[in-house]
Amino acid sequence: MSLRRPMPSSSAVCYLALTLYSPLLTRAQTTILGFTPSAAAHETEIENKFKTIPSPDEERRQHHIFTAEPHVAGSARNNELARYIADEWRNEGLEDVIIRRYDVYGSNPKSTFLEMTAPVHYRAGLRELPVPGDPDMKNKSISSAWSGMSASGEVTAPLVYAHSGNPEDYELLRQQGIDVKGKVVLVRYSNPYSYRGFKALTAEREGAAAILIYSDPAEDGYKKGQVDPKGPWGPEYHIQRGAITYDFMVPGDPLTPGWASVPGAKRIPAEQAVSIPKIMALPLSWHDAKPLLAHMDGPVAPGDWQGGLPIKYHLGGERVRVHVKIEMDNSTQPYYVVEGRVRGAELPDEWIVLGNHRDAWVFGGVDPSSGTASMMELTRALGKLAKAGTRPRRTLVFCSWDGEEVGLTGSTEWGEQFADELRKKAVAYINVDEATSGPNFHGQAVASLAPMLVETTRSLKDPSGKTLYQAWKASSTRERSETKESEAVTDLNLADTRIGSGSDHTVFLNFVGMPVLGLQFDGPYGVYHSAYDDFFWMNHFGDPGYHYHTLMSQLWGVLALRLANADLLPFDFASYASNIRQFVNELAKNNSKSVILSGVAGSQSEAAAESKEPVLPCPACGSAGNSDSNFLSGVLDLKPILAAIGDFEAAGKRLDESANRALASGAIDPKLADTINHGTMQVERNWLNPDGIPGRPWFKHILYGARFTYAHLELPGLTEAVEKQDWPAAKQQAEILHQALINNTKLVDQLNSSLNGEAAEARK
Ligand SMILES: [Zn+2]
Repeated sequence: MSLRRPMPSSSAVCYLALTLYSPLLTRAQTTILGFTPSAAAHETEIENKFKTIPSPDEERRQHHIFTAEPHVAGSARNNELARYIADEWRNEGLEDVIIRRYDVYGSNPKSTFLEMTAPVHYRAGLRELPVPGDPDMKNKSISSAWSGMSASGEVTAPLVYAHSGNPEDYELLRQQGIDVKGKVVLVRYSNPYSYRGFKALTAEREGAAAILIYSDPAEDGYKKGQVDPKGPWGPEYHIQRGAITYDFMVPGDPLTPGWASVPGAKRIPAEQAVSIPKIMALPLSWHDAKPLLAHMDGPVAPGDWQGGLPIKYHLGGERVRVHVKIEMDNSTQPYYVVEGRVRGAELPDEWIVLGNHRDAWVFGGVDPSSGTASMMELTRALGKLAKAGTRPRRTLVFCSWDGEEVGLTGSTEWGEQFADELRKKAVAYINVDEATSGPNFHGQAVASLAPMLVETTRSLKDPSGKTLYQAWKASSTRERSETKESEAVTDLNLADTRIGSGSDHTVFLNFVGMPVLGLQFDGPYGVYHSAYDDFFWMNHFGDPGYHYHTLMSQLWGVLALRLANADLLPFDFASYASNIRQFVNELAKNNSKSVILSGVAGSQSEAAAESKEPVLPCPACGSAGNSDSNFLSGVLDLKPILAAIGDFEAAGKRLDESANRALASGAIDPKLADTINHGTMQVERNWLNPDGIPGRPWFKHILYGARFTYAHLELPGLTEAVEKQDWPAAKQQAEILHQALINNTKLVDQLNSSLNGEAAEARK
């Protein structure tokens, strides 16, 4: 899966502070973050050699292999592809290639059925019909409509239209006197993206008997533009399959929460598994939803609930009755993760992990096979270099995940199995899910790696002829103006540092505590999770020349090589600190209207108190009208946190200056570099709280989390406590954050002392 269209970040509260410190602007083009000058020159040579290897023809050939047949998680074809990857990797020269097996709670359809029984009879086809020119759409093994992790059951009940199926939609229905208890709700996929599992959970909580989720042409069909086979948008019969697993509670196999489901592992009973939904769910094309909507009675739905079909949408609840029957097979089934490496020549026990999922809802043209093709070209190129004697200093670990679409399952089980080892050895994880659905680059990174991601894009060429950096900046500027976002695009906010869930990075960031990066090219894409997302679509709309696939292989590889070969790992903690400050300021701003802020007046300027808009402190930019302003005061004092962020930022700057000095000197003692690198790797681990965030103990990162919709959620424990106005919990979460900032400041200062001490020694 992967989040459809990353949510634009909310506008910066204090971006002046972000411009004070800019490592990127002060470095000449020939340097590379984390490298001595001679190592940078050598690295550039290696990268130039590497970049010539991936080819569009090979990308296309691999893409054709992976999209030739449907290959859903657990299917014979998907397992065959696992063996194919392992064979390819061995031939390419990768080492330690192994296929790992996890026995997980299965979720496959035996049968799905939907009919309207009143006021007229209509039997839903639940099928995707062929379109002219696309031979794959005639494939007999294309599945019918189904939702992963749906409950089994049967019901005949009235149908209610509940718009996007969010809590506020049910509130509106209640105001109209419509109760959904025991009824079937019809909701639509929505924009901005809201994970269908959240729609299912909301319907379950409202007491609905089943949920039908359809694709309205207003969201991804003809209202957007030409539909397949004439354009990239979803045609009449396209069905967005997908899982409804409550993996926002705990991802992976529902029966082994927090440990790996290796064969023979302890399992909990399904009734105790919090991530298994208890509601029936079924996705629909608009072709099958239209007759239901057209016959509904009840009040006319509000204006923004009207969709793209040429009918008047009603709320329903009486006249239309539907019969839903779903039978699932929940027997245990094996999922397979393929793992292979290019062993590091100097530091084999430091790992850069790279991964992409293999399982697809049907053919997986974009999701995930564009990423899989890019990974195969990446491993071919790096294998070729290794065979020729050019090995990275650190080890590259490649993984082909299984069951991502069901509940981020393969990566979660693998991450849980190797969590202890990863916490010792892993430098970072780089995820590519959907590599390419168009030309617009989106790069995500934890804030400490955002500068190196931006820097890396300067050394790559976009198919447009510009550098990838220039193309990225241009498309980001365009997108921000479309979403009317006021924040100008700069090097410091180009990378998206707000990381939610919805793909395989989740276990590494939120459970293991590894820095993560995520890479994607996107464009108009209305066939997500449908059978139309296939080889034909890619060759006509997504990436006809396979140039973006190729660029993805190059970018992914150069990032991996820089992390693998750096003298000093290119973590930028000052950048991390300014991001955390922004998160804290936004938390205060977003909750400024709540009860707790009304008591702030005492420490606010009169104007601010009157407008109930607290003036936010911004020590670094000095722009606040009142430096003593203490938002959330009287209830929650965030001043100590802001002070600790300032200390962490200052420590980060000191370390960065020392590191730059040491790198510029041309040589760093390997033992000293080792100390510094193991120390900086520890910083991300220190953001973990072993107890997890309140109510979701599996999610241990205190800076990054996800809402139930998968949307990014910064400072998750603290934010959720503040939003609930649970002040004892909020104070506790604030203290955990405060302590983590103090610990990391201490650590970074120690590393700085080591670096300077050694330099002083050397001068003697
Ligand atoms: Zn995906």
